[in-house]
Amino acid sequence: MCCRKCCGYLPPFSHFATNAIHFGQEPEQWSSWAVVPPITLSTTFKQEAPGKNKGYDYIRSGNPTRDCLEKAVAALDGAKYSLAYSSGMAAILNICHLLKPGDRIICTDDVYAGEYSTLWLQSSFCRGSNLPGNSLTWSVFGFVQLVWLESPTNPTLKVIDIRACAEVAHKHGCKDVMVAVDNSFMSPYFQRPLALGADICMCSATKYINGHCDVLMGLVSVNKEDLYERLKFLQNSLGAVPSPFDCFLCNRGLKTLHIRMKLHFHNGLAVAKFLESHPRVEKVIYPGLPSHPQYEVMKKQCTGCPGMVSFHIKGNIKNASAFLRNLKVFTLAESLGGFESLAEHPATMTHASVPEEVKKCLGITDTLIRLSVGLEDEEDLLADLGQALDNAVSGGFPSKNHPQLAAFPRG
Ligand SMILES: *Cc1c(COP(=O)(O)O)cnc(C)c1O
Repeated sequence: MCCRKCCGYLPPFSHFATNAIHFGQEPEQWSSWAVVPPITLSTTFKQEAPGKNKGYDYIRSGNPTRDCLEKAVAALDGAKYSLAYSSGMAAILNICHLLKPGDRIICTDDVYAGEYSTLWLQSSFCRGSNLPGNSLTWSVFGFVQLVWLESPTNPTLKVIDIRACAEVAHKHGCKDVMVAVDNSFMSPYFQRPLALGADICMCSATKYINGHCDVLMGLVSVNKEDLYERLKFLQNSLGAVPSPFDCFLCNRGLKTLHIRMKLHFHNGLAVAKFLESHPRVEKVIYPGLPSHPQYEVMKKQCTGCPGMVSFHIKGNIKNASAFLRNLKVFTLAESLGGFESLAEHPATMTHASVPEEVKKCLGITDTLIRLSVGLEDEEDLLADLGQALDNAVSGGFPSKNHPQLAAFPRG
């Protein structure tokens, strides 16, 4: 990186939003001085002489639109390097390809359900929600090449002390142990795993980073040069790269990440407090509430909380189902992190493939509901939850005359 005059690249700024908006986006890098990075669709690039090019040869190996996104993401993650993939799962698969046959992974137990099956396939894998802060037997770390953490976990929002885990792994783990954190739920705006001692920060950009529920993408950020070189090789050779158009969209989403995250936090907290005081709710899980068991860890390692709120409704699966069917502002759908509020039933939707006994052990019961609180007006979100909870008891349908819901014909 050097000054803008000689090559057009600015050094990273010290603040988040300025980096999100400007870093790697310098107009001077394009012959047109376009302020918004153009979408380069060309799959191939003219060479000056055989083997002599302008930094690009073939689309899978490198693409200017993808570069713009990767640079901004690296600055936000506080990383030297970032790499984009065609999905969060593709990012995870690339990380797993850093391992050799027989290498071991240790992994938090209620990881994203897709990871659960991927990590299971990849390697022998040791489960434990008992990571530091709790009580894992650290001796196992001597045999582990990859420590996979997710914090907060999905869908029961347990918070893992990332710094404590990274310290123990690096102290007791084998020489090349890598600590990776799935940061999809937090985004770099609230949590920076590399600064907490992790070696790899992975994100499903499909969620908060893109934030508009219209792109599937994964991102990986690292600081170590050799790790980057290996991942860069795999990104090209495995070929799970995102399209230039998706890079453009995701880069556009990134520009408002800081504003969206602030409002997700505001609305998420409002929803969590509302549910906590509601007589038809058994228990609310929100790491931003003092009632959360790892509230102190959360405050120590994060600067805020996203819009993910899980809760147990009183009753049984019929009440959970009636609640979900009665929602009008919240959409009954999988995924999370977009501008619109979503609600889902982990036991039968996102985590349906997780074996029954594991679900039971993790607390993914029939009454658990996961909300992704979006950016709508707080009053409408609370009114919607209130009427759906009221109507969940009888299993009936919502009253048509709810004043705040009259504007929502859906459902
Ligand atoms: C969605 C998600 C993934 C998988 O990402 P895709 O982009 O859907 O492939 C991984 N981890 C977490 C926490 C997720 O929410």
